[in-house]
Amino acid sequence: MEEVIQASIIRVVDFYKELGISIDRYPSFTYLDEYSPHGKPFGALVINKSWGEDLEIYLKSLFLKYMPQWYQRLGLEISKEAVEEYFEAFSRKIGSLRGDEETGKRLLELGKDIVYFKGLKEFFNENPGKEDYLIDCLNSHELWHCVEMQLGILNDFISEGTADYLREEFYKSIKHVDIIVPSTIKDNDPRREYFDKIVLRLLYRTGYRIVRRHAKYIHDVLDSEKRILMEEEFKRYMDQLASDFPTKLYCKKRGLLSRLIFPELDILDQRRSKQNLATALTQTGAVLLAKELNSQKLSKLLEYHRRIGYIINPS
Ligand SMILES: [Zn+2]
Repeated sequence: MEEVIQASIIRVVDFYKELGISIDRYPSFTYLDEYSPHGKPFGALVINKSWGEDLEIYLKSLFLKYMPQWYQRLGLEISKEAVEEYFEAFSRKIGSLRGDEETGKRLLELGKDIVYFKGLKEFFNENPGKEDYLIDCLNSHELWHCVEMQLGILNDFISEGTADYLREEFYKSIKHVDIIVPSTIKDNDPRREYFDKIVLRLLYRTGYRIVRRHAKYIHDVLDSEKRILMEEEFKRYMDQLASDFPTKLYCKKRGLLSRLIFPELDILDQRRSKQNLATALTQTGAVLLAKELNSQKLSKLLEYHRRIGYIINPS
């Protein structure tokens, strides 16, 4: 395992060097015989202490700006304090899907730039003879995170997009066009599916699309003015998504998004009554919201939940 990984790191770093992009040293790594805290299909993780913090702050600003509007469309008034408390519940849920804090700390203490996981080994086993191809595919993305980390720009929202852009450029350079993304390994946690779909769609695919549009040459990816434009476009996209929500809800895609965004849906049962909603909200920690909704007319909100329920659990 270690030799295959090391050889790939050298190939990918050499590719970056040929493009005139320097990396101060070959990234250090280790292999752990366990699954990534991000889920089974993730073969590697670049260890970055503050990843996700900026995204969380940004998501909170979107909740504060738009959540009162979502409820207003359903004829309901909610306070800023209720939104803040609700966001804590949302953030706990996302945090639990990203992996527990203890695992994060343990990985950080390993002191390596990259940790490779069992998902990669299983992916090798499923695709015998293609190990070099698969590890290069993974590393041409992951090592780009190391380049950005060295430059102090890894926490940009478009970082998954720039890493996928570099992976594609790497594969063009060796004339491979069919990029395989490890996705064959099943994860039994049904919530994962929603998380992966949303995160993959937003951070990777939307990010990549934006980067592709702004970058004519590889160096454009690191051009600070171009990156500002890319970041702004990413935020505009997120803002639009948040402002439309939940009016454009009644399609499958938005149903999945709702499932991820509203933590009470995990414990709300099929009956969708006012009492059930209040209990579910209180159990997730959104006590203020439960209280504020209690004195208002919830028919539109319950109808909305019924429709989401139908999308998620068609019976
Ligand atoms: Zn990545």
